[in-house]
Amino acid sequence: MKKIESSYRDQLWLEQMLDYIWSNHFSDVEKVNEVKIKYGRKAKRRLGSIGLDRNDQTISIITINPIYRDPEVPQHVIVATIVHEMTHYAHGFNSMHDRKQRHPHRGGVIRREFAERGLESMYIEQKKWLDQNWISILEKHFGAENIYRPRKSKLKIKIPWWISGL
Ligand SMILES: [Zn+2]
Repeated sequence: MKKIESSYRDQLWLEQMLDYIWSNHFSDVEKVNEVKIKYGRKAKRRLGSIGLDRNDQTISIITINPIYRDPEVPQHVIVATIVHEMTHYAHGFNSMHDRKQRHPHRGGVIRREFAERGLESMYIEQKKWLDQNWISILEKHFGAENIYRPRKSKLKIKIPWWISGL
């Protein structure tokens, strides 16, 4: 595995990104409970997730794939992932907000939230970049022999294959 610890995208940078995104794109969403952000373990499909702190269920924790420290991953891709997790927070999934709908992803609720916040192009650009580059990034970080590369790159999959978890 490639080491990426030297990246400027450290813990402080991550916290500043969350602050920036919150104040610029989610200023209407009240901070009803503490929200932390941190890097988790390298993952192939999980870009980010939001959960509750095991030791304190009043704290929400956004976990980000540490592969994002790799400077080859453009910043807009990371921002879009944080916006995605902030959307779950606003919708009441693993947060103290009221739950806005039954399922965190169904019915295009994430894309709609991006669109309502004027960020639909960010949503589209993230998907485009991941579709074109994520497999190569994974090969770099996990070794090509450990990555399944679909023979046809234009497979029609309704739900992006790289999204899992919350
Ligand atoms: Zn999600």
